[in-house]
Amino acid sequence: MNIHEHQAKAVLKEFGVPVPRGQAAFSVDEAVKAAEALGGPVWVVKAQIHAGGRGKGGGVKVVKSLDDVKAEATRMLGMTLVTHQTGPKGRIVRRLYIEEGAQIARELYLSLLVDRETSWVSVVASTEGGMDIEEVAHKTPEKIATFSIDPATGVFPHHGRKLAKALGLSGDLGKQIGALLPKLYAAFVAKDMAMLEINPLIVTGSDELRVLDAKVSFDDNALYRHPDVRELRDETEEDEKEIEASKHDLSYIALDGEIGCMVNGAGLAMATMDIIKLYGAEPANFLDVGGGASKEKVTAAFKIITADPNVKGILVNIFGGIMRCDIIAEGVVSAVKEVGLKVPLVVRLEGTNVDLGKKIINESGLNVIAANDLSDGAEKIVKAVKGAA
Ligand code: GDP
Ligand code: MN
Repeated sequence: MNIHEHQAKAVLKEFGVPVPRGQAAFSVDEAVKAAEALGGPVWVVKAQIHAGGRGKGGGVKVVKSLDDVKAEATRMLGMTLVTHQTGPKGRIVRRLYIEEGAQIARELYLSLLVDRETSWVSVVASTEGGMDIEEVAHKTPEKIATFSIDPATGVFPHHGRKLAKALGLSGDLGKQIGALLPKLYAAFVAKDMAMLEINPLIVTGSDELRVLDAKVSFDDNALYRHPDVRELRDETEEDEKEIEASKHDLSYIALDGEIGCMVNGAGLAMATMDIIKLYGAEPANFLDVGGGASKEKVTAAFKIITADPNVKGILVNIFGGIMRCDIIAEGVVSAVKEVGLKVPLVVRLEGTNVDLGKKIINESGLNVIAANDLSDGAEKIVKAVKGAA
């Protein structure tokens, strides 16, 4: 789960991390009031969306008068902000963050994330802050330093010294980063974050470290123990289909392709996506209905797939083990009865109750293309979709 910059900064502040003062605003009026309360003389008006690169897209403006706060707030609220992270569709700006302006001497990069290979917390640091870190990693990989922290023992002073060296911070600034790292680490672990990215971490004109931008995502599997974090969820930033799927406890991720997939098991779902690509098309989603899904759950899943206007064909690929083929068939038939079927549908069923499943589909009168195995199914759906184009 992702949260907004202003929420991330509020969380970090609880752990004693130095962040600029600021207030969220949902209207132009609130923006001006926030700016008045902060006092100036310099403010930053920042669009709050769950994506980075806002500065380049016109979503971050440094201003020096209340009139300009008002003008920028008016311009940004309701705008569709397009950045390299939003994709061409962009995101509608529904809230702003009004912050006191900072004087920037240096911009640094610092992030913490879970290293899945070692199960440790990785620290990534670079002197090239304020830039797209993927680009820095690509063009000048020597400017990125990484090391890991063992969660069994936590942060040691030598980690702080390593970080200070990587960021080129010495003297008092070295001490400041040494004090900052354990705070960030504490926040990261206590809140079950998956990623904490600070870009930029700045050195101010008066030689103080400040978190100028913060992006935080949380481990969804740990949200049950953080009701306070759950409260921060902003559903307007999430894919509607993914929200609907999470209500039915389906593992669903929307993608950009044209073939909707309904599969049981994450591994089979991945394999199905791969094989669709192999036959020259792109999957529209990842969907694992799981083992032991009910007819209602399968119906919900099928409806989510058909509601996606990008879907030009559907491949149902079920290997019935715990999941029974007849349940899948019933779910598909009932969903189609409710919402209709305007695109080709290929069904491949195998395993428990497969004959009953096929019988249900055959007797339903649905226009279904039957497939014998995984590659046959992928080939048939790609042909059906490409043939229709
Ligand atoms: P992003 O573009 O979405 O990553 O948004 P950021 O919060 O990182 O802001 C983008 C850039 O705006 C930063 O890298 C800074 O160069 C600049 N910026 C943000 N806040 C301030 C500020 O308080 N003062 C100054 N001078 N520049 C700022
Ligand atoms: Mn940034």
